Amino acid sequence: MNYDWEPLGEGVWRTRLPFLDVTVGLVSGRTHALLVDSGTTLAEARGIEADVAALTARRVGHIVLTHSHFDHVLGCSWFNEAEIHCAPEVAAAMTSGRAHLREDAIRYGADADDVDQAIAAMPVPAHQVSGGDIDLGGRTVSIRRPGRGHTDHDLIVTVPGRHTVVFCGDLVEQSGDPVIDADSDLEAWPVTLEAVLAAGGEDGVFVPGHGAVVDAHFIRLQQRWLSAWSAS
Ligand SMILES: [Zn+2]
Repeated sequence: MNYDWEPLGEGVWRTRLPFLDVTVGLVSGRTHALLVDSGTTLAEARGIEADVAALTARRVGHIVLTHSHFDHVLGCSWFNEAEIHCAPEVAAAMTSGRAHLREDAIRYGADADDVDQAIAAMPVPAHQVSGGDIDLGGRTVSIRRPGRGHTDHDLIVTVPGRHTVVFCGDLVEQSGDPVIDADSDLEAWPVTLEAVLAAGGEDGVFVPGHGAVVDAHFIRLQQRWLSAWSAS
C-alpha cells in the first residue's frame, strides 16, 4: 500500500495525502471504483490507483472533483479511463484556467515539473454537473451542490450506508481553520453547511477536505466560527 486508507463504511475509504493533508475518498461498487478528488501529482495518483486495485480489485471508473483548487484536481490527469464529474467552474479551471492552477500550485510549494506534467495531461471533464447520481454497480452515490462557501461551486458526495458518509471537500476543514480566500462566500457558507448537515443527518460521517473525519457537532461549531468571522 502506498497510502493509509481509513475505512468509513462497507466499501468506503479515505486517505490523507502527505502533501497539504488533502483528502482523497474512495467508494467501491460491483463494477467500478469512484474517487472523490484526486490529489496533486501524477506520482500520487499512480500510487492511489495501485492502492485502489489492491483494496477493491476495481478500476477507477469515476472521479468527482469537489472544487477547482489545484490540490484536489491535478492528480486526475493520471486516470485517463475515468469519467470526470465536476461543476462547470472546475471544467473551466481545467481548460482556460490552467495558468492560474499552475501559479497556485507553485505558490503552495508543489514541484514545478510535477505540476507541468499534470497540466500537460489534463483531460476535459466528461460531465459538468450540479448534482445527480452515479451507479457503481449495486450501489449509488449522490453528488450535490449545497451552495456557496469555500468557493462558489463546491460539490459534496453522499454515500448511503448504516451511517451516511459525506465527502465535504473544503466546505469543512479540520486540520486548520477553513480557508477563506477570494473565491469564498463567507456569508453564505454557514447556510450551505446546513445543507451539508442535512445530507449526512445527525449520525452522519463527515469527511473534510483536510483533516480528520468529523461529526455533525463539529460542523455546527464551524458554522458558528464562520458566522462570527463574517460578523467581525
Ligand atoms: Zn480548496
